[in-house]
Amino acid sequence: MFENLKEQPADKILQLMQMYKEDPRDTKIDLGVGVYKDASGNTPVMRAIKAAEKQLWEAETTKAYTGLAGDPAYGDAMIKLVLGDAVARANVAAAATPGGTGAVRQGFDLIRMANPDAKVWVSDPTWPNHLSILKHMGMTKVDYRYFDSETRGVDFEGMMADLAGVAAGDVVLVHGCCHNPTGANLNMAQWGELVELLNAKGAIPMVDIAYQGFGDGLEEDAQAVRLIASKCPEVLIAASCSKNFGIYRERTGLLMTVCNDPSRQKLNQGTLNYLNRQNYSFPPDHGARLVTMVLTDDALRADWMAELEEVRLSMLGLREQLASELQRLSGSDRFGFIAQHRGMFSRLGTTPEMVEKLRADHGIYMVGDSRLNIAGLNKTTVPILAEAIIKVGI
Ligand code: PMP
Repeated sequence: MFENLKEQPADKILQLMQMYKEDPRDTKIDLGVGVYKDASGNTPVMRAIKAAEKQLWEAETTKAYTGLAGDPAYGDAMIKLVLGDAVARANVAAAATPGGTGAVRQGFDLIRMANPDAKVWVSDPTWPNHLSILKHMGMTKVDYRYFDSETRGVDFEGMMADLAGVAAGDVVLVHGCCHNPTGANLNMAQWGELVELLNAKGAIPMVDIAYQGFGDGLEEDAQAVRLIASKCPEVLIAASCSKNFGIYRERTGLLMTVCNDPSRQKLNQGTLNYLNRQNYSFPPDHGARLVTMVLTDDALRADWMAELEEVRLSMLGLREQLASELQRLSGSDRFGFIAQHRGMFSRLGTTPEMVEKLRADHGIYMVGDSRLNIAGLNKTTVPILAEAIIKVGI
């Protein structure tokens, strides 16, 4: 049997991490993998998470199974964080998943169960895992234009023109905020237009939200998903706690369905429970429990929000520093988009050859599509990167 297995394509980002590790230059800079790093290059455990872990260690008396959808208190706390008061709780079904990836995977599974003919429309480009999971599941994927390689903003006209071709029952996958890999995002007026188009066509939005609090703020970053949830009859939402709670390896995510007909909630919830059972039975609990504690305790929540805001502002500061350094060196505004982008990533919009030149000549590692992780920088390395970008001729 095993002889039938084929070599699978390696994950490009993990490959890049390995190359970085093996690079002997002490001036090397890692702007590859999507993990937040502070000014000294560490990915710290957030203070509130550390405090919650201590409390949990003292208070936890059992590690018996939770429910198939995870601890209901986790679902409640996360629904509130993501959706606020945009929809009634009775219209939402939710299940804990192993990370945001688990939520995306379970969401696709649910789509396939409900409508095997549904096409899933994805932004070009999108997070590569979206593509590889859809392919693995044998689902049909259609690209819609997203990134304008001239302005490095959203090609909204192209996006809407492509999405005019969606059929009723198709699913349109969008990034709720902080688009990965481009950093380019729709404004609220554009989200409004998109919602109108999807409703007119009878298409179903699926929102992947993995960076709430990394862009314009916790509430601001949830505005689009809240608009969609309040205006569209059926919505899928895959949320990740990996980044905004800094609990990457705890694998903490939530898949939600929102339906304007509350009588469907029970069936949706049963389906989410069923899908968890088929794939891994009970979802991981440790990260989910920490998130619940942080979100429901006033002091922990305030401290978490303060630290998340520090993280957000530090990335914004680095963006502004890089954009102004590049303006100084290039004598032009053509890198202004870096300060406009939001979240952890920006796509420079240059060729793989230039990306390779940055790596070979300057020890600067970024993904081949020219996505750079802003959090991989610090005040000292920003000018080094800016100089390298100009030197290689981007
Ligand atoms: N969606 C997007 C767009 C992401 O960038 C990520 C993190 N890389 C995720 C989902 C989920 O990540 P995780 O499974 O680590 O929670």
